[in-house]
Amino acid sequence: MNKIFYNNEWHKSLSKIKYSKNSFLNSKINYYPNCSEQDLQNVTNSAIKGLKEFESFSLKKRSIVLKSIAKEIRKKYKIIAKLEAEDTGKKIANAQKEILYAVKIWDYASHQLKVLKPIKQSFNKKKLGEIIYEPVGCVALIVPWNYPFIVASERLPFIIGSGNSVIIKPSEYASSSLSYLVQILKKQKLPPGLINLIYGKGENIGAKLVKSKKVNMISFTGSTKTGKKIMKSASKGIKRLSLELGGKNSIIILEDANVKKAVKICIESFCSNSGQACVATTKLILNNKIKIKFIEKLKLELKKIKNFKKILGPITTKFQFEKIHKIIDENKKYNKNIIFGDIKKRKDQYIFPIVYEGLPLKNSINKKEIFGPVLSIITFKKGEQAIKIANDTNYGLSAIVCSKNINKAKKISKKLNSGRIWINNSTSVNFPHLPIGGYKESGLNRECGNEGFKTYSEIKSIII
Ligand code: NAD
Repeated sequence: MNKIFYNNEWHKSLSKIKYSKNSFLNSKINYYPNCSEQDLQNVTNSAIKGLKEFESFSLKKRSIVLKSIAKEIRKKYKIIAKLEAEDTGKKIANAQKEILYAVKIWDYASHQLKVLKPIKQSFNKKKLGEIIYEPVGCVALIVPWNYPFIVASERLPFIIGSGNSVIIKPSEYASSSLSYLVQILKKQKLPPGLINLIYGKGENIGAKLVKSKKVNMISFTGSTKTGKKIMKSASKGIKRLSLELGGKNSIIILEDANVKKAVKICIESFCSNSGQACVATTKLILNNKIKIKFIEKLKLELKKIKNFKKILGPITTKFQFEKIHKIIDENKKYNKNIIFGDIKKRKDQYIFPIVYEGLPLKNSINKKEIFGPVLSIITFKKGEQAIKIANDTNYGLSAIVCSKNINKAKKISKKLNSGRIWINNSTSVNFPHLPIGGYKESGLNRECGNEGFKTYSEIKSIII
């Protein structure tokens, strides 16, 4: 469905410009419009109307609707996964797992709406305080191409659960699964105008949405570069923001780690989605004492995966493919540091795992978010040194610590400047109950968990 959605109906875009950017080789082309100014007006007007009508929609009713959406996604997860795989190139099996995880988030948010209660406190016999959560208003939800359905599902139930209306703007590279989600949402008994969908290029419709006076909040997930532009533009009206941005994430392996398990975690966490994951851990900080054993096992396990095409998809966009190769090319003089993988540019837009060892700390491969399956190994002697290397970045999204000593791993976790840390687990292990978001240039605010509702609420206190 390449129509836009407002006032509870599908409409043909008034723009004649069709485009498709899901450009990985041999991809099925799904066309979406680069919407016009008038489309934007129609969509924002609808969102304002929807917001007004949603005021009388009780928490109980919202909870029922979220539950019903979860059920519907569960029923249709194979169709959604197919659409997502067509746009992004990811493996169908992985896309299916992602959509099923999204079901859990919708279910969780539905459940929380049943148990969340207004907070009242009496300070003494005469004074009472109340904290009230109100909707922020009309929220523009701007989504990236790497995990469109999960990213939207980590935000949407909390946006509408908190009483806001929403305008969804998927990435120009991957719009199909969210278009299908809106088909599901249309079937719910939600007020017309509550859910809206528009397509278009970031610098066109995305930027205009951010500027629109009718939009009260921007929920943006994407690159730090775009996040900074959005923050600047939103500063004019001190517009509310939730920013979930890029990451340069570390996996720290302590001396006592279970090597077999840590290698598995490491491979899963730098290769998942062909490395195109904001939480991917691409900086391996390895204790010197187990260096030889760990690297041997890592190479062995990677060699065992004879056909990477069985587990990895192509790099989703030509732009991203070229970007990864540019970073590798710029570091030609360090080709001798490659201990696994082939950097030759492939014609089919795939990049298979590449592992560097011993690059200078300031090297761009250790600094930049590469967004491809490229791992860099750095060794350390003492725990404090590992923490310093991990925190030596402008980002602060995620990290992994592997150790048999959980207390020690927890102590290190507390010192890491990252929003989510896994101990002896890969980045594929997630729970909707836990907030996710970044420190430093990885973002502002948190999604999921009860914090997810707070992110999309204005919080008022009353003293009686
Ligand atoms: P991107 O910043 O290029 O685009 C993201 C979205 O923003 C797209 O919908 C795009 O159309 C829109 N956009 C682009 N320019 C805009 C502008 N000037 N104003 C408004 N909207 C604009 O990012 P991408 O390449 O689609 O996604 C990859 C990035 O997303 C990576 O950096 C990754 O780490 C990040 N990401 C972060 C999280 C997280 O939770 N922290 C999750 C997934 C992806």
